[in-house]
Amino acid sequence: MAHVVLDNCINCKYTYCAEVCPVEAFHEGPNFLVIDPEACIDCMLCVPACITGSIMEERDVPHSQRSMVRANAMLSQQWPSIIERKPAFPDAEEWDKVPGKRRFLEMW
Ligand code: SF4
Ligand code: SF4
Repeated sequence: MAHVVLDNCINCKYTYCAEVCPVEAFHEGPNFLVIDPEACIDCMLCVPACITGSIMEERDVPHSQRSMVRANAMLSQQWPSIIERKPAFPDAEEWDKVPGKRRFLEMW
């Protein structure tokens, strides 16, 4: 079991999550962060750190978001690690809670 970044993170990138993770489990893509399920130790520190509420324990992920579990596992093997906070996108606040953000995910 591991924690998973859900699609509400897309186009926000606040990155508060990455700086609190004790095991460097976060990886960064063009407009999204993911968690490496092999590295995550389920400490839950990133859950309150994420101001958009985009992180959840895998077993609690709703059916509509199950594809994001696979996306975290796959993309964390391809994207570089991120361990420090960086500035969010300037329009991050406007993107928070936009429905159906999965289609905006940039893979490369
Ligand atoms: S804090 Fe939340 S929204 Fe921001 S990058 Fe981390 S998971 Fe994504
Ligand atoms: S639950 Fe803990 S170990 Fe897993 S990604 Fe979040 S901060 Fe890192």
